[in-house]
Amino acid sequence: MLDQTARRALIETAARRVIDHADELTTLDQAIGDGDHGINMKRGLEAVLADLDGLAAKPLPEALKAIGMTLVMKVGGASGPLYGTLAMTLGKELPEDPSRADIARALGAAIAAVKARGKSEVGQKTMLDVLAPVAEALAQTGDPAEAASAAADATIPMKAIRGRASFLGERSIGHMDPGARSSALLVAAIAEIAGHSA
Ligand code: ADP
Ligand code: MG
Repeated sequence: MLDQTARRALIETAARRVIDHADELTTLDQAIGDGDHGINMKRGLEAVLADLDGLAAKPLPEALKAIGMTLVMKVGGASGPLYGTLAMTLGKELPEDPSRADIARALGAAIAAVKARGKSEVGQKTMLDVLAPVAEALAQTGDPAEAASAAADATIPMKAIRGRASFLGERSIGHMDPGARSSALLVAAIAEIAGHSA
């Protein structure tokens, strides 16, 4: 059962995990972007934590919609509207107490919304290159956290086609995509907590 305590743990663990890795995300973004991804995510997720009790009191779909709006307003950059769209679509698509199959289906819809918003596709060295393999793992019997970690590593040899990193062309090759890394951190934290409460 996804009760208020479980929702609180889920939101808090996911937000803190990324905040704790803000310096790493910034270093990744310094290599192939403008060095603000860690700062952007930290600002947005600190705003989420500031309303942790209020968010945890809402049913999961409403909490996700509210988190999505906060991310759009506070993260900024390219990633804010994209993570905001992801969370808001998950909020629209998920039932209050989702099964693994519900999560796989809702994540598929959220990925489609991110693609539309970002005019992007899988294979362009972005967060989508982690989110899509995670949705596939969830739809089958795979471990989503393992899939996310392997998928983030797999962005290293890719050439960026979308986002600021695409300005570097070939020179974007050899670095992990910062948004792929933040997505993998979120997935790992959520999978840990969901595993405990399952
Ligand atoms: P900005 O690029 O504006 O500085 P951030 O540094 O916060 O924004 O986020 C960069 C990340 O956003 C990239 O690493 C990539 O994963 C993701 N991203 C950027 N543009 C797109 C896009 N069009 N579609 C999907 N993801 C994108
Ligand atoms: Mg940036």
